[in-house]
Amino acid sequence: MKKKLNILAIIMVVIVLVVFITSLYISRNNKEATDIEDDKIRVVTSFYPTYILTTNLTDGISDIRVDSLTDLSAGCLHDYQLTTNDMRLLSNAHVFIINGGGMEEYLEEVVDSFPELEVIDLSKGIVFLESEVHEGGDNPHVWLDPELYMIQIENAREGLETFIRNKGNIKDNINNDGKDESGYNEYNKEIIDHLNANASAYLDDVAVLADDMNLMLNTVNDMVQHNNISNKVVVFHDSFAYLSTKAGLEVAYTVEVDEDHPLSAGEIAEIIDAIRDENISYLFTEEQYDDSISDRIKDETDAEVYIIDSAVTGDVAKDSYIKAMRRNIETLKKAFEG
Ligand SMILES: [Zn+2]
Repeated sequence: MKKKLNILAIIMVVIVLVVFITSLYISRNNKEATDIEDDKIRVVTSFYPTYILTTNLTDGISDIRVDSLTDLSAGCLHDYQLTTNDMRLLSNAHVFIINGGGMEEYLEEVVDSFPELEVIDLSKGIVFLESEVHEGGDNPHVWLDPELYMIQIENAREGLETFIRNKGNIKDNINNDGKDESGYNEYNKEIIDHLNANASAYLDDVAVLADDMNLMLNTVNDMVQHNNISNKVVVFHDSFAYLSTKAGLEVAYTVEVDEDHPLSAGEIAEIIDAIRDENISYLFTEEQYDDSISDRIKDETDAEVYIIDSAVTGDVAKDSYIKAMRRNIETLKKAFEG
């Protein structure tokens, strides 16, 4: 009995030691992580499009760290609820970059919880189309028009520069040393120059894309007006509205697809009837939506289904937005030029 107790005591001592050493190790690692982070300007972006835009501007700037609030495969998050992890990430951030236009429905909660957090709204100054899903609301999918995306790039550049000049980062006592009247010093000047160089390079690339996109949309517009083709389209998500408006297309029906409320058989029949009645030939859907509904519509009507890339998911490559929009130009070409 006594021997058993001794063994038990040894086991307990070992367990206590393991727990103690592990906790020491973890706290040391956490401390290291915090120390590294304290040197950086910590930027959080709301979702994939704002993340890709921001990482283009901060590319190669080791003093700025960018994290996405949501998973990059999450897509458009219209009814997103903040998680505990999101709140933790935001509590450590200096800057929060949002798309605006109501995309971040949780914004008020963030502002209330972190009044010190600098919020950069990328849609500042943009005139929104009205949402086709929420009556009276704004349609926040402005990034799908490259011209509006260029305004978003400039808003991000300006917002980040202003923040870096005025506030620096956590090491305020260092970063505010020797600032001139405009707020520049040796430390932030280098970061701001790098940021501005990145922004103008990205703007140049997107400007070429915007020209090509406008050319395509004007061609479609001409065809709709002169070649007697139907200008009515059915869409699955009102993200296509910015391009379809420029192309002179009329959205006859927006199919509201919501994972929590799948379309009923009656609703699908109603859409099919509308497509037949109005002789609609174009159905624009998106990759992340269930194919079965668009397949059924295609089978039962004369409409062709085209897939628009709304650039809300993808890889972290710097040119992923540009590539997605180039695919959309090709899709429009296929749809309207045959
Ligand atoms: Zn959306």
